[in-house]
Amino acid sequence: MFNMLIMGPPGAGKGTQAQDLAKRFSLRHLASGDVVRSEVDGGTPKGLEANEYMKDGKLVPDVLMTSMVADQIKVACESSNGVVLDGYPRTLPQAESLTKILGECGIEMRAVVNLKVPGQEILDRLVFRLTCHGCNRVYHRNNNPPKVEGICDDCGKGLKIRPDDNEQVIRERLRVYEEQTAPVLKYYEERGLLKEFDGTPPIGEVFQCVVQYLQKLGAE
Ligand code: ADP
Ligand code: ADP
Ligand code: ZN
Repeated sequence: MFNMLIMGPPGAGKGTQAQDLAKRFSLRHLASGDVVRSEVDGGTPKGLEANEYMKDGKLVPDVLMTSMVADQIKVACESSNGVVLDGYPRTLPQAESLTKILGECGIEMRAVVNLKVPGQEILDRLVFRLTCHGCNRVYHRNNNPPKVEGICDDCGKGLKIRPDDNEQVIRERLRVYEEQTAPVLKYYEERGLLKEFDGTPPIGEVFQCVVQYLQKLGAE
């Protein structure tokens, strides 16, 4: 059982690395943004409320956000070899909620991996990000294109640009990250769990560095 978090600003490569790490270590990948988008697409009351924040690049309020992910975290932790959490927690209250959720299940967090990428690089990554609306896999028009243009390698569905991946909203998401999410790193540093990685090398290089670190911690 190995449970971990992957953190970093929008566009740092959390989803990309989480997906590959999940495959490599047989973990479940749970991305909070995917949870929100599926509620929005389903037109649920929670989705409708959350979208009012998401479309402007704001964080979904803590209570609403935690209500959307808590059960999924419990199920993912209990039913698998472990979980890679991606995008949750993003605030200090969420970090405290997560500690409580895991505690109730008697589950321990083993690693918090933070990917560091500077702002300009993030903008380039996000304006050209393509997202599969079937399986949520992410691509990049130049850095990480699909084999066939516009089509997901994994599931064959179409790729699209997320509505919040436009320059104005990206800038707001970066501002919100610095203000509300960066403090969460300190929470995990104080608990001896934080490990930072340079997120700027190519995807495979970042992956190798993270894999080596997780193996040292006992992930198999
Ligand atoms: P996050 O989940 O942190 O928002 P993603 O994994 O969706 O980030 O990656 C954001 C964009 O950057 C995607 O288009 C992805 O293909 C691309 N990308 C991810 N990692 C790298 C990397 N190491 N170098 C270049 N581009 C990357
Ligand atoms: P990215 O991959 O670019 O980091 P995500 O897909 O993780 O973005 O999140 C997209 C949006 O969903 C966020 O801008 C926010 O509105 C909402 N969201 C996702 N996770 C959280 C969270 N833990 N707390 C609050 N809002 C969240
Ligand atoms: Zn797909």
